[in-house]
Amino acid sequence: MDALVIVDVQNDFCPGGALPVPDVVATRDWHPDNHGSFAAQGGPWPAHCVHDTPGAQLHPGIDATRIDVVVDKGQTRDTDGYSGFEQTELESILRDHDVETLHVVGLALDYCVRATALDARRAGFEVVVHRDATRAVEVEPGDGERAVAELRAAGVQVVD
Ligand SMILES: [Zn+2]
Repeated sequence: MDALVIVDVQNDFCPGGALPVPDVVATRDWHPDNHGSFAAQGGPWPAHCVHDTPGAQLHPGIDATRIDVVVDKGQTRDTDGYSGFEQTELESILRDHDVETLHVVGLALDYCVRATALDARRAGFEVVVHRDATRAVEVEPGDGERAVAELRAAGVQVVD
């Protein structure tokens, strides 16, 4: 069984799309309003994806009827939530559905897609990142390319 993991295609981050695949999981950044990654707390990012706000909803361009499970991450002040596997049920959900291969798409390539794909490899899944269905933030120019190199070195297939 294959699964598609859509990383953080939320209103704060994107325009988006929809994809027909057997098991579809969407992750959401879903933060408390004092999340440690926010600039007001000394973190690197502007406040984003505060739980239950409009900006934290999945983008309307995603066909939510095709999504089987939504996994929320970064729910406590001190969990980054870059990876969909960090303190979530994602791994057990995938195992319960006999998933062996994850196809990972979404936002952003150099942060949450990267972290989710690397954790999926560590957990023993085959992982394919579909680069044309991701975008990098590029806080530093070249971050996207560096993420691709790191993913490939970890055994992740990166395809266009
Ligand atoms: Zn976040």
